[in-house]
Amino acid sequence: LSPVPSDIEISRAQTPKPISQLAQEVGLLPEELEAYGNTKAKVHLSLLNRLQHQPNGKYVLVAGITPTPLGEGKSTVTIGLVQALSAHLKLNSFACLRQPSQGPTFGVKGGAAGGGYAQVIPMEEFNLHLTGDIHAITAANNLVAAAIDARILHEATQSDKALYSRLVPSVNGVRCFSPIQMARLQRLGINKSDPSDLTPEEVRAFVRLDLDPEKVTWQRVIDTNDRFLRKITVGQTQFDIAVASEIMAILALTDGLADMRARLGRMVVGSSRNGQPITADDLGVTGALAVLMKDAIKPTLMQTLEGTPVFVHAGPFANIAHGNSSVLADKLALKLVGEEGFVVTEAGFGADIGMEKFFNIKCRTSGLKPDVVVLVATVRALKMHGGGPNVTAGVPLPKEYINENLQLVTDGCSNLKKHIQIAHLFGVPVVVALNAFKTDTQAEIDLVCRIAEASGASAAVQCHHWSRGGRGSVELAQAVKEVASQKNHFQFLYNLQDSIVEKIRTIAQKVYGADDIELSPEAQAKIDYYNQQGFGALPICMAKTHLSLSHMPEKKGVPTGFILPIRDIRASIGAGFIYPLVGTMSTMPGLPTRPCFYDIDLDPVTEEIKGLF
Ligand code: ADP
Repeated sequence: LSPVPSDIEISRAQTPKPISQLAQEVGLLPEELEAYGNTKAKVHLSLLNRLQHQPNGKYVLVAGITPTPLGEGKSTVTIGLVQALSAHLKLNSFACLRQPSQGPTFGVKGGAAGGGYAQVIPMEEFNLHLTGDIHAITAANNLVAAAIDARILHEATQSDKALYSRLVPSVNGVRCFSPIQMARLQRLGINKSDPSDLTPEEVRAFVRLDLDPEKVTWQRVIDTNDRFLRKITVGQTQFDIAVASEIMAILALTDGLADMRARLGRMVVGSSRNGQPITADDLGVTGALAVLMKDAIKPTLMQTLEGTPVFVHAGPFANIAHGNSSVLADKLALKLVGEEGFVVTEAGFGADIGMEKFFNIKCRTSGLKPDVVVLVATVRALKMHGGGPNVTAGVPLPKEYINENLQLVTDGCSNLKKHIQIAHLFGVPVVVALNAFKTDTQAEIDLVCRIAEASGASAAVQCHHWSRGGRGSVELAQAVKEVASQKNHFQFLYNLQDSIVEKIRTIAQKVYGADDIELSPEAQAKIDYYNQQGFGALPICMAKTHLSLSHMPEKKGVPTGFILPIRDIRASIGAGFIYPLVGTMSTMPGLPTRPCFYDIDLDPVTEEIKGLF
């Protein structure tokens, strides 16, 4: 339709097929499905066993140029591409998307179900509670926080003996250790199974984690942009947004229940007064966390506007975590589509962040190899990288973005070229998807495609999924199909055995284009500590602004001649990465003066949700 109706109008005009029907179409057995109403269902991980001998389909990553406030449209390209592959080229295909946080849904950005005629439906379900995974993470995360504070209190107020008799209670005159406690004894090197055999020194070591309250790194979380929880004076605690929880990063990287439980147990929550890391295992809380997360580990099946399948699963923060959907959803989808099929997944932010982490962290963890990168760009965003003026929300776009301006496009293509080169560092071919806006002129489109191909992209095509659905992305689908069939030489950018400093320097120089890195004394001290604790061989998850290839958000295009400052370094040991902080990263966004929730309402008669976008 022209003009294209609002996202929610389009979403509501399409009746989704029953989820059981979609499940049957993609080859799921009824017992592998757990329906949550008629339009979404969780899928059992047992499917991986059933299809273990099935070859994987092609693995496509959608990434973008450096984001601008004008929006690039990675999610819409992802959805438009699978609509084109499935509904128009008749190839099996699956989209794997992140579950959005309610922070942005009610805050500045709005929902994340795509847009126009490239959407996941029902978009209300997608954008709100879905199947409760983020709530499960919140519950698990805050149980750890409560366990830490309770433990510090009890250790401060009770003698060794009193702690021991409470931790290992006598039932009918018999004391025995729980399996979780036996595991802790083993970690302490105490090989005794009878509680009465422990010496007073061993009892002391067993009952006292001796957590240093100043060194607790675990925070509470909530899935609301609530800036007043950034610092709370009473007790000096802090809240993060739920999707910043390490448990979310674990959900996104795990490959099954046993691995998830092991990772949850390894999470370091702080350190003892003598500098030893204290873990969730030490707190004895791991089993309870696994119980809270047992349903969240199953990906949720939904559908696009054209009835093609989508997995929605996990949504870790893209700065302090890796910003990619789950390994499990990708693995299940790759089996379901079969050898000739396609799985299209998306990485958050620009290719310097989301794609780099997709390759170096997610693919390293999963063992999966990508076949092709779809790099999303828009003429408008390229103009901003070429020196176009800043834009302000709610104010009409400056004329540079409405009228043809080939010079700005040419200059801005430096950013596109750099992102193509970054993908090539990993040996993966690139198809550039130019997401069409109605203000683009033919000369501008041709110019971008020409520069992209001259910069080494295997293909560059314009796509119209937003205004036309899957049929607007057929050309992109054809290009992806062709390029994915060619052999590639995927490689990681660094070896895990390289030192932490070398790994950071490699990313800074090769991906961001920095001359070098500069470590603060705090960062250097942390590196020494992590090396001493044996954490030095983990991959690196840079926490850098997404608004520039450099650490300076205002520097568009391709900044050069800068030294990347590493302010501090933290670690998510359970998730399995070290994250250097380049500048300050807020882990609790705030609400703007006029948040999205002003437009959201419920019709009490029809129960229709209004105003979500
Ligand atoms: P990203 O995934 O890069 O953050 P999205 O795909 O979520 O971007 O798109 C951001 C917003 O821009 C959405 O509201 C979407 O509907 C809108 N949008 C995307 N592509 C187009 C287009 N070609 N024309 C108009 N609006 C678009």
